[in-house]
Amino acid sequence: MKKEIRKVLVINSGSSSLKYQLFDMTKGERLAKGLVERIGCGGPKDHTEALKQVVADLGNPKDIDAIGHRVLHGAEVFKDSVKMNVANMAKCKKLVKFGPLHMPANLGGIEACEKIFKGVPNVAVFDTAFHQTMPDCAAMYAIDPKYYKKMGIRKYGFHGTSHKFITQEAAKFLKKPLAKVNLVTCHLGNGSSLAAVKNGQCVDTSMGLTPLAGMVMGTRCGDIDAAAVLSIMEAEKLTPAEADTLLNKKSGLLALTGSSDCRDICAKADKGDKAAELALEMLAYRVAFYIGGYNTVIGGADAIVMTGGIGENSKEVRERIVRRLGALGIKLDKKANNVRGQTAVISTKDSKIPVVIIPTNEELAIAQDTVRVLGKM
Ligand code: AMP
Repeated sequence: MKKEIRKVLVINSGSSSLKYQLFDMTKGERLAKGLVERIGCGGPKDHTEALKQVVADLGNPKDIDAIGHRVLHGAEVFKDSVKMNVANMAKCKKLVKFGPLHMPANLGGIEACEKIFKGVPNVAVFDTAFHQTMPDCAAMYAIDPKYYKKMGIRKYGFHGTSHKFITQEAAKFLKKPLAKVNLVTCHLGNGSSLAAVKNGQCVDTSMGLTPLAGMVMGTRCGDIDAAAVLSIMEAEKLTPAEADTLLNKKSGLLALTGSSDCRDICAKADKGDKAAELALEMLAYRVAFYIGGYNTVIGGADAIVMTGGIGENSKEVRERIVRRLGALGIKLDKKANNVRGQTAVISTKDSKIPVVIIPTNEELAIAQDTVRVLGKM
């Protein structure tokens, strides 16, 4: 008989930090969470040492049944989460080129678990997997197809675990079968992306080959004319690595206002700061613009769903977005919008499409997927 999977450890292994959460899946309850920082730069020397610290923090548990890992990129190889083994690790290692910063750390976390939790199954949950149902017309770039064939250059999308989780939660909330639900899901945080979900499946998303595309984000520029980047590189004599840092780490809200934190920017805008005001309107404009497009793509949404640090918490940003959706017959209920971090409908009863906040929980989603994948085997 198959052993019941009760305790699932979820690992989010980054280049210099390792976040973990432990769940009791019989109750869907979180038992512990923590963070090990400064890996390889003053703290533990590598991910194995970091994991030893996690084991100690958890009091040397002997009853962990499975481990779920967040992995950045599954490319076209992994369309769903998988149980790790030698063959799948080899396939993952070939995908490091798609995430040279994150992938080695993600895979290092898995290898560390294989060493320390001997015999406990590891499941990789990919940020890209939910978006693998996108049709080619949404996923391909209009460049010579040889770059797709040789290098895999196409749109992959990210935050898939979150978009999938809120899609499932929204279907339950709307009392619709998952296979029939049409949504625009908005994950708005420090990194932000939208997804168009038709019949429960992703048909488009705003991030691209990398997480740089789409929304105006904390430190990323989002959509930009590629020729603008070439002009800046030429004028400032930037290497590709320097341009990457400029666009990913020194752009977005940070470049526009001096802060990447939405709370600071809302406070500044409240005091009449023009740069903060413009940044918030740029952010809201782009979200509303994509919502309009995605509503067309899916043939009409059953709901617009908002999540992430900003989507769940910032009534100011939500109001700025919904204000721009009048053409879709969407109306904000200002009183209902005065909420934080909880499932709530923030549109009026006569709004043509409801706008719903659904808090995301990527770690729980990874734990649930771990149980599902192992249960299938
Ligand atoms: P995340 O990356 O999902 O953790 O989201 C981080 C973003 O959420 C930051 O820009 C925060 O400023 C924003 N955020 C968190 N709490 C609030 C809040 N109460 N009001 C406005 N923004 C918030």
